[in-house]
Amino acid sequence: MVNISRLNFAHLPTPIEELPKLSSILNGPRIVVKRDDQTGLAFGGNKTRKLEFLVAEAREQGADLLISGGAMQSNHCRQTAAAAARFGFECKLVLTGVKPQQASANLLLDQLFGAEVIIVEDRAFRDQVLQKTFDDAIAAGKKPYLVPYGGSSPTGALGYAFAMEELVKQLTDFRSLRDFGSLDWIVFGTSSGGTHAGLALGQRVFGFKGRVLGISIDEPEDHLKSHVSELASQASEKLGERIHFTRDDVLANDEYCQAGYGVFGEGEREAIRLFARHEGLLLDPVYTGRAAAGMIDLIRKGFFKKDETILFWHTGGQPALFAEKYSSSLL
Ligand SMILES: *Cc1c(COP(=O)(O)O)cnc(C)c1O
Repeated sequence: MVNISRLNFAHLPTPIEELPKLSSILNGPRIVVKRDDQTGLAFGGNKTRKLEFLVAEAREQGADLLISGGAMQSNHCRQTAAAAARFGFECKLVLTGVKPQQASANLLLDQLFGAEVIIVEDRAFRDQVLQKTFDDAIAAGKKPYLVPYGGSSPTGALGYAFAMEELVKQLTDFRSLRDFGSLDWIVFGTSSGGTHAGLALGQRVFGFKGRVLGISIDEPEDHLKSHVSELASQASEKLGERIHFTRDDVLANDEYCQAGYGVFGEGEREAIRLFARHEGLLLDPVYTGRAAAGMIDLIRKGFFKKDETILFWHTGGQPALFAEKYSSSLL
């Protein structure tokens, strides 16, 4: 394999835990969870794994400023701001939405990490503002590195290709094998596609036998199939040899995102409450809450069979629980 730059700051491997009470309450399949909410950078989450590769690339390019964008309560931006602080970069974040009266949750943390926050109310202008922020930085003599939305470039996706390697090792470890048996499904929330593409690539390269199903947070299935397969193909080149992924290599379900990004509904509330009350485990309102709501519905519909084992890949995001927008409707 070719030489790939990586900074090792994530807390790995993340644990796998069984959720027996949840399985039994749903009268469903065996459910285990992969705790990527515990990756260790500023409350953790899936962006840590991507940033190990992205920040390494920024360093290699001689950058001194990380620029990224996302929603007002973006977990990706919070973790990017933390990585910038830790590795000595300045950070500018272009966030979309209405500026709240008081910064809370991820937005509060962005500022605590010293990032400069630029707010764009209308999402239609976000790319333009992001580009202008980048151009202005160059004009001012800085060396900016643009971290793509969600960290989902081919470089960022590598984080999840290697996460799959980590999982496959955990499953072949004797003790883990006895504990967890084989996995039929991996279920997780998918949005900008980097996690999904990385897992698809890792599945192929490291020989994971189960199926990998992304529950869409905000994108149509059709878009995810083409975008994720393309991203996985591009990421494979970074491993030294292009693998061609097709739309059929990508499993996605977009039945649970009709309300729109970040709209908190009954499904998300029920999922968060079930995980909290029966397993003492926290989900987030935007991503893992929605992905778990989808998983629960698919269990109830009989899509997942009782004799199967599902690994729910927890991608983090819990700081958003404390954003007023969500905390006020949790109970
Ligand atoms: C960003 C994010 C996702 C989605 O990951 P993508 O790689 O953007 O598809 C899922 N869960 C959480 C908590 C996230 O912050």
